[in-house]
Amino acid sequence: MARRPIIAGNWKMNNNKAAAKELMDGITRGIKELDASNMPEVVVAPAFTALWQVYDMIKNEPKIALAAQNVNPNPQGAYTGEVSLEMLADFNVKFVIIGHSERRQMFNETDEFINQKAIAILNAGLTPIICCGETLEQREQGITDKHLESQITKALKDISANDVEKSVIAYEPIWAIGTGKSCDAIEANRTIGEIRKVVARLYSQDVADKIRILYGGSVKPSTIIEQMAQPEIDGGLIGGASLKADSFIDLIKGAMPLSTVR
Ligand code: PEP
Repeated sequence: MARRPIIAGNWKMNNNKAAAKELMDGITRGIKELDASNMPEVVVAPAFTALWQVYDMIKNEPKIALAAQNVNPNPQGAYTGEVSLEMLADFNVKFVIIGHSERRQMFNETDEFINQKAIAILNAGLTPIICCGETLEQREQGITDKHLESQITKALKDISANDVEKSVIAYEPIWAIGTGKSCDAIEANRTIGEIRKVVARLYSQDVADKIRILYGGSVKPSTIIEQMAQPEIDGGLIGGASLKADSFIDLIKGAMPLSTVR
């Protein structure tokens, strides 16, 4: 069965309540025009402070799902500043982004902590979007594939095949994030193919064929068509270009069969 594409917008630390409302007004208006049967799964990941606003605006809009940008894997307790899965469930959050390079680099999140989060997210019935990616230095040293294998193997430790096939991986070369310099689509396709081979080795070809693997890193309306034409790329995790309704809608259209887009 074909894998359903995903277009996910990671708003990062942008958009207060009013800006979130304005952006979602534009997205919900644009999405109404699109044919639901051919649409990718559309996901938006606001900051925690805008979750209520966005939840309220999409509660009757089945074409858009909500994601969180982070979660703490513990059920509750003395974790100042953190948010639990039970709290996210209140807002009908379906996806949680974990392992983003910004959290790995700026907040020292380890592979082990990311694995704990993935397990907790799956146990709560939500879907992790597990990010991985190499630095420019690692790419230049020719150790990209080895590094990704290590990140993926550690992120998926002790997770069953059943849970892995429901999960989402996002390949995000760090040198391409927020730089305007997207990874060449053919190379992104090759690298994602290597990630799929890691999943096949750890589980089975069947699981590898089912798991959705996105590309992230300066995805724009001008790059999405070529990216989506690659057989291994199942969609995009998008930062900057998800912050404007018009460009986010164009990205969604770019993940639809051309004949279905007006
Ligand atoms: C991201 O934050 O995951 C990302 C890929 O950002 P950008 O699209 O801005 O490069």
